[in-house]
Amino acid sequence: MPASTFAFCPRDGSKLTLTRIDGRDRPTCPTCGFADFMHVQIGSNTIVERDGAVLLVRLNYGPRDGHWALPGGLVENDETTEEAATRETKEETGFDVALDGLLVTWMRPGFPILVVIYRAHITGGDLRVAPDEASEAKFFPKAELPPLEEIAWPSAAYGLDAWRAYEPPRP
Ligand SMILES: [Zn+2]
Repeated sequence: MPASTFAFCPRDGSKLTLTRIDGRDRPTCPTCGFADFMHVQIGSNTIVERDGAVLLVRLNYGPRDGHWALPGGLVENDETTEEAATRETKEETGFDVALDGLLVTWMRPGFPILVVIYRAHITGGDLRVAPDEASEAKFFPKAELPPLEEIAWPSAAYGLDAWRAYEPPRP
C-alpha cells in the first residue's frame, strides 16, 4: 500500500479494508463507506493584470525565499476557489480584485496539489504586502518577467505562460 494512503478511517477510526472500486483496490471503511482516493490540496491563484503587466509577489520565507510567485494560497474547506483567490490576493498584496474567469489549471502526477489560476483585475485597495509572506510585490510587463529560475513554483511558470499566450475571445 503506498505511504500516502490511510490505514484507518479519518472519519471514525475504523480499520480500512481493500475494496475494488473503479478498477483499483482502495482502502475503504466498512463502517461509513469512506474510500481512500487520492488526496490533494487546492491552491488558488490570480493573474492580476494592470496596464498589460502582471502582479507578482516576492516570497520571503521557506525553500522558495526570494522567488516570485503569483498572489494566492491554499483553499480552506469553508470557501470556494474563487473566494480563496480574492482573499489571498487581498491578504498578500492589499488589492481588492474581481475575477475575470479561469485561465488555467495545473496538476502533475506525484504532486498532491491542484492549482487553479484566475485572471483578475483591481477594483480597489493599495499595494501593501503582508510582511510575513512577501518582501515586495510589483507589476511586470510581458516582455520583462523574471527568469524561470526566479519563479517560485512550476504552477506559476505555467500560469505566466498561459497569460502570455492568452487572447480574449472574439465576438
Ligand atoms: Zn469510516
